[in-house]
Amino acid sequence: MVLLGTTAWARPTVVATLHPYANLIEQIVGNRMNVVQLLPSGASPHTFDPTPSQAASIAGASLIVMNGGVDDWARRLVTAAAAGTPLVVVTERLHYQPIQGSDGVGTNPHIWLDPSLMASTVPLLVVALVSVDPQDAATFRTNGATLVRSLTSLDEALRQELAPLHGAPFVPFHDAWPYFARHFGLDLVASIEPTPGREPSPRTIAEAVATIRRVHAKAVFDERQLNPRPAQVVAEAANVPLVTLDPLGNTGQSYQELMRANVKAIAKALGD
Ligand SMILES: [Zn+2]
Repeated sequence: MVLLGTTAWARPTVVATLHPYANLIEQIVGNRMNVVQLLPSGASPHTFDPTPSQAASIAGASLIVMNGGVDDWARRLVTAAAAGTPLVVVTERLHYQPIQGSDGVGTNPHIWLDPSLMASTVPLLVVALVSVDPQDAATFRTNGATLVRSLTSLDEALRQELAPLHGAPFVPFHDAWPYFARHFGLDLVASIEPTPGREPSPRTIAEAVATIRRVHAKAVFDERQLNPRPAQVVAEAANVPLVTLDPLGNTGQSYQELMRANVKAIAKALGD
């Protein structure tokens, strides 16, 4: 009995709020830990309201990893159900150059869409995971080093793919893409829905259409987690194609695959 149980029920659980972090952690821990993703695939962190069972899943965690800002609902769950559990808030630990949020107050939280920042996040995750499960330290460090190399070569490949689009006007759906745009040299001229989950005003729509025409943006983008209707209205009025991006990803899709898919869609839409 003990032999059977040792690996199965002694396996610690790590909870991550967003898919990109859950996936990086999976790539570091392999099958040595249970990895639970709190925000279901397809949901937006901006409109998410955790259910009691999602709240309960945090109670058994040995470690909780969140981005900060966009997933602050997790702080309430931690306070209520897991007050003593180690918590990593990536935006509070990572050294990076913050970008102001579109509301003019606070920092834009969407750092995970810059792969170089995700490569810098891996060592932070490895340290936290090793402190929870020191027996597997060597495995986690080896996998972490492999992951950093993978993210670095991903970044290089994506840079090459986007290099011909340097300075191209980019009109994403919500304000998720400033770190991505800064890193890859796209010109983020407007967002269609400044407050995600809240339909933009007719004035905001009209301004987006005017900007797209003025700068000759070649496409606009919606996102699979949010209602595409405002983007459809803008695309139609500006007479440009509407292309879907995914800032978060799906269960079973690696972070690297997610970023490749987004860059491929952007390169195709904004290229010749
Ligand atoms: Zn967002």
